[in-house]
Amino acid sequence: MSEDPTIFEQIAAGDIPARIVHETETIVAFLDANPLAPGHTLVIPRDAYTKLGDLPDDVATELWATVQSLTPTIETAVDADATTIGVNNGSAAGQEVPHVHIHIIPRFDDDGGGP
Ligand code: 5GP
Repeated sequence: MSEDPTIFEQIAAGDIPARIVHETETIVAFLDANPLAPGHTLVIPRDAYTKLGDLPDDVATELWATVQSLTPTIETAVDADATTIGVNNGSAAGQEVPHVHIHIIPRFDDDGGGP
């Protein structure tokens, strides 16, 4: 875990406002502040593990189960045709916030496709 609280830890703690769409003791999901599409959601563990490989198994399991269950709900909410689900796992991959987060990005038949 990081020494200083990450932005996402502060969101999970309620210290920074965000549009939270789902939360448990372990996991929080909220709308991305700079969405790539309507409904773009980030799913995080409450605690600030930096990379996927740092996650304890039980947290990883709940994180993925949350992505799996939220995805159809988000698709329905924004009338999406599909979803891109992704993780930037490390700074060289474009990870800006050093706190594991899974992007759920709604996709539409006319959005051009691709990553
Ligand atoms: P990364 O590039 O690390 O995979 O993605 C970080 C994501 O976090 C970006 O899509 C960015 O828009 C989002 N983000 C960064 N800061 C905040 C914030 O304070 N609030 C919310 N809701 N999203 C944020």
